[in-house]
Amino acid sequence: MKISEIVSFLESLAHPSLQENYDNSGLLTGDGEWNCNGIICSLDATENVVEEALSKKCNLIVAHHPIIFGGLKKINGKNYVEKTVIRAIKNDIAIYAIHTNLDNVITGVSGRMAKMLDLENIQVLAPRQNTLKKLFTFVPADKAEQVRNAIFGAGAGHIGNYSECSFNVEGEGTFKAQEGANPFVGEIGKRHREKELKIEVVFPPHLEHKIVAAMKASHPYEEVAYDVVDLSNVNPEVGSGVIGTLPRPMEETGFLSRVKDVFQLQIIRHTSLLGRPVQKVAMCGGAGSFLVSKALSAGADVYITADMKYHEFFDANDQFVIADIGHFESEQFTTDLLHDILREKFPNFAVLKSGIHTNPVNYYY
Ligand SMILES: [Zn+2]
Repeated sequence: MKISEIVSFLESLAHPSLQENYDNSGLLTGDGEWNCNGIICSLDATENVVEEALSKKCNLIVAHHPIIFGGLKKINGKNYVEKTVIRAIKNDIAIYAIHTNLDNVITGVSGRMAKMLDLENIQVLAPRQNTLKKLFTFVPADKAEQVRNAIFGAGAGHIGNYSECSFNVEGEGTFKAQEGANPFVGEIGKRHREKELKIEVVFPPHLEHKIVAAMKASHPYEEVAYDVVDLSNVNPEVGSGVIGTLPRPMEETGFLSRVKDVFQLQIIRHTSLLGRPVQKVAMCGGAGSFLVSKALSAGADVYITADMKYHEFFDANDQFVIADIGHFESEQFTTDLLHDILREKFPNFAVLKSGIHTNPVNYYY
């Protein structure tokens, strides 16, 4: 199997176009045309992980954090980033990073955290706008089914847990074929009226080319009339953080000790406990201070995240509890997530989890 096939699969789950503009997700080293011998999944692609990939004969590392993040101006091995990149390139190891694009899908980093705590009714905390488009096309009624099949097959018409969503309305189209045309129906030089169906479907922008090509290939008309428009709708499946509810309310201390067990924490930094039961929980893997006000306005009793600074803890305002569980700790199950989805898709392929503990933070207590 080629590395590009594995990359395409990962992109179908969390497309690189969903990454934040400061990010650098994608294939960082290596070549999509290479044959893949094995995949190793990790939170970080450090030099030790490259070493591990070599020893386990895997030539693809799928990591959450991009080892090349802020750009490289020199590659002479003076720091851990350069060392890792040199080691990977010298040994033909491909590194693929799936970072904020995996943060920005409901089935990604924070969604996995929520599942670990058995949260129910999991929703994106800050759903994004402008991540959907709409296609309208006009098809002779008896050819509508074949065009619908083609655009559904190319990925149009997914809404939540529903596929093949479309709206269809009957109408009448007119056209007059000019000299040189080869019309599907009608005569050259005469206005023709045709019973047509207007088909409407939504789709994510990265599928536009594929869907329009499928529509044109399946459409009987020589000149296909269609409109593609940007939607400003909120997309409930795309965005950062998640919020969900515990099956039963818990006492704050009981809840925090559950978090401590599940995430195998040595310490939780948190704001004052308020003596109120916890049921609604917001979560964001990694640095999540930017979502504090969203978590609060969404009615969370507790917001679990990482990398909170001193002054940012004051933003809890005694209205809810902010709990900082550590960056690595919050995202540690991302390795399992990547491993599980790749294993499920490619069951007969070597997909491994890195055994290297890459957390650079230690606790002395
Ligand atoms: Zn992170």
